Amino acid sequence: MTTATDDKYRLILVPHTHWDREWYFPYQRYRTRLVGFFDLLLEIFDRDPEYKHFLLDGHTILIEDYLDVRPDRRAEIERVVQDGRLAIGPWYEIPDMSLPSGEALVRNLLRGHRVAEQFGPVMKVGYIPDPFGQIAHMPAILRGFGIDRCVFWRGADDTLDTTEFIWESPDGSDVLVVHMPGGYGIGGPFPLESDEEFEERIAFIRRNLEPLAQTRTLLAMWGSDHVAPQPELPALIAELNKRLDDAEVVHGGLMQVFDEVEGQVSRDRLQRRRGEFRSGQRAHLLPGVLSARMWIKQHTFAGEQILTRWAEPLTLWSGLLRGKLGEAWNEPPRVAGPPSPHPKEPKSESGLLDRAWRLLLENQPHDSICGCSIDQTHDEMKPRFDQCEQVGEELTQHAIRRISAQGPADRVYVFNPLPGPRTDYVTVVVPKADAKVPIALVDDEGRRYQCQRVEGEDTDDRTTVGFAPEVPGFGYRAFELEHGEPAPPKAAKRRIENDTSIVEANQRDGTLTLEIKGAGVRWTGLNRLVDGGDRGDEYNYCATDPDELVRGPASKPEINVIEHGPARQTLEIKMTYRLPARLTSRRQRIARSVAVPVRVIASVSPGVPRVDIRTEVDNRAEDHRLRAHFPTGIAVNKAYGEQHFGVVERPLALPVADDSWMEQPIGTHPQKTFCDVNDGHGGLMIANRGLPEYEVLDTKNGAEIALTLFRSVGWLSRIDFPSRKGGAGPYLETPAAQLIGTNVAEYAIIPHRGGWEGGYQQAHAFATPMRARWNRRGSGILPGSGSLLDLESEGLVVTALKRPEGVERDGTTILRLYNILDTPTKGQVRLSEPSSRVQVVNMLEEPLAPANVKSGWAMLDLKPNEIVTLRFDR
Ligand SMILES: [Zn+2]
Repeated sequence: MTTATDDKYRLILVPHTHWDREWYFPYQRYRTRLVGFFDLLLEIFDRDPEYKHFLLDGHTILIEDYLDVRPDRRAEIERVVQDGRLAIGPWYEIPDMSLPSGEALVRNLLRGHRVAEQFGPVMKVGYIPDPFGQIAHMPAILRGFGIDRCVFWRGADDTLDTTEFIWESPDGSDVLVVHMPGGYGIGGPFPLESDEEFEERIAFIRRNLEPLAQTRTLLAMWGSDHVAPQPELPALIAELNKRLDDAEVVHGGLMQVFDEVEGQVSRDRLQRRRGEFRSGQRAHLLPGVLSARMWIKQHTFAGEQILTRWAEPLTLWSGLLRGKLGEAWNEPPRVAGPPSPHPKEPKSESGLLDRAWRLLLENQPHDSICGCSIDQTHDEMKPRFDQCEQVGEELTQHAIRRISAQGPADRVYVFNPLPGPRTDYVTVVVPKADAKVPIALVDDEGRRYQCQRVEGEDTDDRTTVGFAPEVPGFGYRAFELEHGEPAPPKAAKRRIENDTSIVEANQRDGTLTLEIKGAGVRWTGLNRLVDGGDRGDEYNYCATDPDELVRGPASKPEINVIEHGPARQTLEIKMTYRLPARLTSRRQRIARSVAVPVRVIASVSPGVPRVDIRTEVDNRAEDHRLRAHFPTGIAVNKAYGEQHFGVVERPLALPVADDSWMEQPIGTHPQKTFCDVNDGHGGLMIANRGLPEYEVLDTKNGAEIALTLFRSVGWLSRIDFPSRKGGAGPYLETPAAQLIGTNVAEYAIIPHRGGWEGGYQQAHAFATPMRARWNRRGSGILPGSGSLLDLESEGLVVTALKRPEGVERDGTTILRLYNILDTPTKGQVRLSEPSSRVQVVNMLEEPLAPANVKSGWAMLDLKPNEIVTLRFDR
C-alpha cells in the first residue's frame, strides 16, 4: 500500500454516480437511463484497464434493475466486482435513515449483502451519501454487519472541525467516519471539458478538505446525481499529476481511503462524537420530509408491523408446532392452498415473506419514503405497499388458523405479539346463537370478560363483539363465548371513563380533559387541533409571515358518547374548522376560507391506561400544516423521542443560527412510536401509528407536545421562502402532496409515573394491537393459552422473531432484541419449544459465540441500547 509519507497530499478520487432510483422522474424513466449508464460503465471497464475503480453508490438494487433487462451482462459484472474495480453494497437501497424502523434498516443491509455476495466482495463501508440526517444508532447497526467505517454528508454543524472522527452509538459501538463536508457532488458539475477545468476542480476540493483533514489522504468524491462515468478520467489524472508537485491524484475507492487514513492516524487520536447529527447549518437537513405525504409514513409503519410483528413470528411458530406435533398436527381445511406449514417445506412462506420485504424496501429509498418526489413516483408506491400488506395479511391469517386449529374447539383466540401479559381491547367476528347475543368471554381459568357489540357490523348469522382480555406475551389465549340477554343500554353520559381515567370533551373547542382517578392529576386542552400556513415545499416547512394559526373549530362541536359498554367507552367529537383555502401569495394565507370537517374519536378500556384517539380530517385546504397539541403543564428544557434502538433526549431550545446557515433551525424532530415530556416524577407520552414528526414547544405554561397529523404543500422544491437557502430539487408542482380528501391519524395519550420508562410499553401496545379470531374446529392438543417465547427482563424490546435468512436448517429461530433503557439491564429468554443450542449471532446471522444458557434460559446482560441477535436451534 502506498501512503502519504512524503508529506504530499494524496487525493483519492472516487468516481461514482448518485442514483436515486425514483425521484423527479418515476422508476422506469430512471431505469431506462440506468441501462445506458451501466452499458457505458461496463464498456469503459472492458476497453480501458487504466479505469481502475467505480463506486456503485452503495446499493445493490441497481444491479437487479439492470440485469432484469440485461441478464447477459451478469458475468461481466461478476468479473469487475471480483477484480475490485466495481464497489457494490452494503445497502440494498439507500433509505432515509430516520423513517424506516431499526429492523427495516437491518433487513436493508442484510439484503444488500445477500445480493452483493452473488457477485463478489461487499464494500464494507457504511456509505450514506445523501440521506437527510444521521441517526444515533447507526454505528451499532453497521457494527452488526462487521462494518467499522462510514462516510456521510448531511447533519453535522461546524463544531465538527475534522473530516475524520469516531462516531459512537449509545451502546458504545463506534465507527471511523470520513465526513464529506462538501457532499458527494463536490467535484461537479459534470461533465467537465478540459485539463484546466479538471485542475481547477481538484484545487477547489483541496481548499475545502485540507484544512479539515487529519491525514495526508483526502476523499475526493467524483460524481453527482445520475451522472454517467467519464471515460477520459484516467487521462485527465495522468496529465494533472505531471503538473502537481505538492499532491498526487489517485483513482481509487472508499476502502483505499480508509486503509490509508488508518495507516496514518490511530483511532484513539481522533475526536469522538456520540449520537445523532441533525443540523442544517452546513448542508440541507430537509426535516420537513418527516411530514410530507403522511400516508407514506403510515403505510411504511403498517408494512413493517405486519411483517415483523405478525407474519414472521406466526409462520415461524406454526412451523415449529407442526414439527413438534408430527402426526397429531391438525391441518385446518384448506381455503385455497395456503403455503405449506411443514418445517421441511418452509421455503414457500419464506419466499413470500422475502417478496413482501422487497416490496417494502423498494419504498424506503430516501426520495421515496420521504415524500419529496413527483406525484407519479408516489402513486407507484401505493401498489407496492398494498401488495406487501396483502402477503403479510394472508400469511398471518393462515398461521392464526393453523395454530388455533391445534387448541380447543369453539373458542375465540386472541394473539398478542408483544412481550409480557397484556390487557387490551380487541374485536372479533363470532357466530350468532339463536336469538341470544354474546355477553361475555371466559378463559380456561374461568376469568370472565364482559363484551359489547360493535354497532353496524352484524350479518344474518354473525356479529362483531369487542372485549379487553389479558393475553400472555408472544402468545395466545382462547375464550369461550357466553350468550345471554343483552344488558339494557345505559344512558350515555357526557364523558367516558375506565378504572384509571375520566375523559371529557370541552363543549366549546372540542379539546379533551383527562383526569386520573384518585391521583388529583388533571390535564385540560389536550388534542387541540392547531392549523398553520405552510409556504415551504416537500422538503421544508416554512411558516407564513405572519404565522396565522387557527386554534379551534368555527362553531360549537357536536359531542356524543357513541360506545358505553363494559369493554370500551368512546367519545365522538364532530367539528368544522374554517381554514384559509390556500396561500394568497407565497407569503400569507388567503382571506377566503373553506370548511374542513373533523371527527375525533377518543376511547378508553378497562385495564388499559391510555386514551386512544382517531382523528379523521376531510381536508379541503391547501398549503398548511395540521397538528394536535398536548399541553403538559410540566416545565422542562428537554424532551424525549423514541428512535430505532433506544430513546433520544433533545433540548427544547433551538440552536442559535445566523444568516449563514443553509437552513434555519426547526423544533420538529423524528420519532418512532412515541414522544414524551416528563420531570422524572411523572409525565405525558403521546404514542402514534406511523406519525413520525413531533415538536415540543416551550410555553409559559410548560412544555406542549405538537404532533403533526399532516402537512399540505404543492411543490417539490421552491427557492422563495426563508427557512432554507436554495433549492433541494427541481421546481415542480406536486398537487397530490396537498392531501386533499380524507386523512386519518391514530395516536394515544399515555399519562405515566416516573420517566418515559413508565409509559413506553403502553406506546408499544398502542402501536401493535392484538388480533382475535373465532375458531370452530380444534383438535384440543394445545391448551387454552400458550406462548412462543418467554422473556423476563426490564427494558428488553424484541424487533425480530423469525426464521433465519435463506432457511438453511429446519427448526431454527432468529431473535433480535435490544435494551431500550439508558442504563444496563439483565434478562432471560427462552423459546417454548426446546432448543439444543443457543448462539449469539451478528446481524448477518453468522455465529459469534455460544449464548450463556442456564436451565434452558439464555441469560442476557446488555449495555444501554445494546442490540443482541440470538439463534436457537432445535
Ligand atoms: Zn439522493
